[in-house]
Amino acid sequence: MAGNLFVIAAPSGAGKTTLVRMLLEQKSSVHLSISYTTRQPRPGEQNGREYHFVEATEFHAMIARQEFLEWAEVHGNFYGTSKKWIADQLAAGHDVLLEIDWQGAQQVRSLFPLAIGVFILPPSMEELTRRLTGRGTDSADVIARRLAAAQAEMRHVGEFDYVIINDQLAQALEDLRAVVRASSLSFGAQRARHAALFERMI
Ligand code: ADP
Ligand code: 5GP
Repeated sequence: MAGNLFVIAAPSGAGKTTLVRMLLEQKSSVHLSISYTTRQPRPGEQNGREYHFVEATEFHAMIARQEFLEWAEVHGNFYGTSKKWIADQLAAGHDVLLEIDWQGAQQVRSLFPLAIGVFILPPSMEELTRRLTGRGTDSADVIARRLAAAQAEMRHVGEFDYVIINDQLAQALEDLRAVVRASSLSFGAQRARHAALFERMI
């Protein structure tokens, strides 16, 4: 498999979406999986761009049809990753990036042991609170629920291969790019990419 599968997790508000968007602007060879969710769209979010927004009945029908690679209930809503989309992308040799929670990451890891896990940490709880409030997209009770869940999410940091502390955005982006670049040089990725060279040399 030439393409790498990246799994990025973080407590809500740590800056995962911001970092991933910036990475993709610079590195269009990484393909971002668009999850399905039963959450309501935030102002500015578009169906099919940030998420595929679906009703709970449709989501449960998709579970029954086994259309998800993984799915989980997070902050009171359901989220899931399309199995077919991921299989198609990896078969075509593309790098794929999943922005999912720790429960989904565990499921993906058991299916793809070579998946590369990246966890984004905020520099402090105070800053996490500031970012969640400053984003201005969630109500006070949604923010309270996400802060309460942040600690639980962060307890899983040790299950990931890399940890990026998103204090200064430019530095965190540089770190994320370094992980993607180093992963593209792994033995498996290089052998798949340069099959003929490996045939000749070893
Ligand atoms: P997540 O996807 O992890 O929930 P977002 O990417 O939506 O988080 O970021 C939450 C808020 O924090 C947004 O308003 C974003 O602009 C801001 N933010 C992200 N990274 C930083 C950073 N390094 N410094 C300051 N603010 C940041
Ligand atoms: P948000 O509602 O802020 O967009 O996302 C809330 C949480 O759901 C985040 O931790 C995000 O990573 C997670 N999430 C988004 N999509 C998926 C998915 O497809 N599967 C799983 N397991 N979690 C997801």
